[in-house]
Amino acid sequence: MSPTSADTSGVFVEPVGDDAKDARVRVRARRIGIIGAGPAGLAAARVFIETGFTSVTVFERNNDIGGVWCYTSDAVCHYNIPQDSADTALLSNYDERCEFTGGFPTPLYNELHTNLPTDNMQFTDFPFPPSTPEFPSRHEVQAYVRAYADTYDLRRLVQLNTEVTNIRYTGGQWRCRVRRLENPTAIVEETLTFDALVVCSGRVSHPYIPDVKGLRELYQNFPQKIIAAKEFRRPEEHKGQNVLVVGGAFSAFDISRQLSYTVASLHVSMAPMKDEELNFDGFNKQMVPTVHPLIEKYTGTSVVFTDGTEIPLPDLVIYATGYLYMYPFADNQHPELLACPEAISLKDAATQLLPLSDGQKTNDLYKYLVYIYNPTLAILGVPFNIAPFPFYEYQSHYLAHLLRGDITLPSFAKMKEEWDTLVHDRPGKLVNKMGMDQIPYRNDLLEAVDQTVNEDKCIPRKRLYYITPDMPWAARLRMPELHREALGYGRNFVS
Ligand SMILES: Cc1cc2nc3c(=O)[nH]c(=O)nc-3n(C[C@H](O)[C@H](O)[C@H](O)COP(=O)(O)OP(=O)(O)OC[C@H]3O[C@@H](n4cnc5c(N)ncnc54)[C@H](O)[C@@H]3O)c2cc1C
Repeated sequence: MSPTSADTSGVFVEPVGDDAKDARVRVRARRIGIIGAGPAGLAAARVFIETGFTSVTVFERNNDIGGVWCYTSDAVCHYNIPQDSADTALLSNYDERCEFTGGFPTPLYNELHTNLPTDNMQFTDFPFPPSTPEFPSRHEVQAYVRAYADTYDLRRLVQLNTEVTNIRYTGGQWRCRVRRLENPTAIVEETLTFDALVVCSGRVSHPYIPDVKGLRELYQNFPQKIIAAKEFRRPEEHKGQNVLVVGGAFSAFDISRQLSYTVASLHVSMAPMKDEELNFDGFNKQMVPTVHPLIEKYTGTSVVFTDGTEIPLPDLVIYATGYLYMYPFADNQHPELLACPEAISLKDAATQLLPLSDGQKTNDLYKYLVYIYNPTLAILGVPFNIAPFPFYEYQSHYLAHLLRGDITLPSFAKMKEEWDTLVHDRPGKLVNKMGMDQIPYRNDLLEAVDQTVNEDKCIPRKRLYYITPDMPWAARLRMPELHREALGYGRNFVS
């Protein structure tokens, strides 16, 4: 079946036996819309073109390709405090265009080096240049992503300065509202239609800022005192300041390490950890941070921690507490606008349609990828603790064959059952945590395509492979020590 043939696009329910609820689901699409031109959107565009799709459009709200790796030298973000769910996060005007680059702020700081070695990180058939250090700088990754786009002629598919503001499925197709932002004083709005949408908008846009007593008032009175890691750029900008960093993961560690060379005092608040477990490799020995447990409250003049200790209100609090899953273009109050009638008619009356995400986690994604209630909608890169670039290639390969009609999905009911089991086994945001499970996951996606498509007939298949745990890079995923060896500092507060 070719995507370029005159086959009708849509969602098709293929009966198996008597019970309509057991009917399997097939999808066909010709016009593909991709939201976002970061590594995921670029990888998807390449795979779709190579798989025979001729109508592929990538929308990018920024003025350049590259997503996160498109560094902006300044950043101004606004938050709702608390910003701990899709309902509470600020949806519009949350980040302002940067003064120097004219693009939307991305979350990279100036001195960033990758936390993955190049052989884990790179696309499967596109190695970093041989001279690249094992943990490259942001400059080197940006150049790499640009070279990828140029080598496979992907820029021609991308509409820059174009923000997708609303999507809805109606009459068997997606209506996509876009805003052309090129000229900020004359923004043009348009509606475009597609058979399928692939969401590649990333998951590090809206910082997660947990609720704590007194924080809202502090932000109202002194907004400049509270920033998220997304806004941190250079340690020199905080010379002589008293700083509290909130968070215990990679960004909190790396930002604190940099600040230890410039600030007057440094405190870190994180989930309780034994002192002997803490690692300060690479920190200024004269400015090892004072580590506190979680914050209990802000009083207006001090910060009180859950163990009762207290510090005077710092000059700056940096929230390095992660990000929310946000899809502001999908109306969370009306998830039915995303569902297809075929799924709705077979849906159990008691099953409620949930929004794509509640902020902390996504909902109802078959294989963490395909929206169960309308398989013409997919989201790339939802799981975390993964090696993102090659991960996107496997997901895109599966998706391209799904949208060509090569792969048949289980019934809506079975897909939902599978997702609910995942949610049950991994409650809360753990449902999206993958780690080493990305190995069987990628193999599973590959196998699903191999079962239906002759691999000689598929270009992307030639660069994808089954992963075994003894492969050198698979073993390296467990080795943050490599990072310390290469850069002289660890990746985390815990050794
Ligand atoms: C501080 C930090 C360090 C990291 N370090 C590493 C690392 O060392 N190695 C690694 O592999 N990964 C790292 N990552 C993860 C990083 O997110 C991935 O490498 C990768 O950039 C994700 O690609 P993506 O395309 O999914 O998302 P993004 O890179 O976020 O790209 C999404 C794109 O979608 C666009 N977009 C969003 N909404 C819309 C809309 N409505 N309309 C149009 N366009 C839209 C955005 O402008 C953006 O360009 C890091 C992330 C952060 C924040």
